[in-house]
Amino acid sequence: MISALSLALLLLTGLGCTPGINGGNTFSVKPDDARPLTRASEREKKLPFGLYITPSNTPIDPPENFTGYHTGRDFEIFPSEKETDVPVNAICSGAVVYSGRIPGYGGVIVESCTIGGEAVTVLYGHLDQESFTHGVNDPLPLGEQLAILGDDHSTETDGARKHLHLGIHKGTALEFRGYVDKKEELDAWLDPDVVLGQQ
Ligand SMILES: [Zn+2]
Repeated sequence: MISALSLALLLLTGLGCTPGINGGNTFSVKPDDARPLTRASEREKKLPFGLYITPSNTPIDPPENFTGYHTGRDFEIFPSEKETDVPVNAICSGAVVYSGRIPGYGGVIVESCTIGGEAVTVLYGHLDQESFTHGVNDPLPLGEQLAILGDDHSTETDGARKHLHLGIHKGTALEFRGYVDKKEELDAWLDPDVVLGQQ
């Protein structure tokens, strides 16, 4: 039987070998560097990638007015973070290709990256626009803070709860949809949990 200690060592060793996600397998990054929020894996996963929701059938309370297949993965805040600044960090090294405000999200930053040799755009949604530290065309290195989360149910989040929507869309085109009508359309996105190695 495997002991708890050797299991822990095994896990640590495995994590240490996690390939970098911003340029293929040529280097390693510490897992925490590639997380959009601290303690990301401990956060409640209410809205995973690909979940179909409607306003009357949603895990979010109070319900939000969205319908469709979720194109990203939501990271919830801890109760203690409701009134505090929650930094959002880049999950890959790239450049900012959009910085502004989009209906349904409030503040949004989109970063262009290469993940596993493929060009993608990474959308960080429900951000406090006032906190943006990078503008369009600015380089955004892995792990660098790009914003803080918008306040709970405020204009900063366009009325949504305080949380991060992380979407990874294939290619270089700007794509803002957080939900799509048809399941097949999800093929244009990557599951952030897979990319971040949390599954
Ligand atoms: Zn979302």
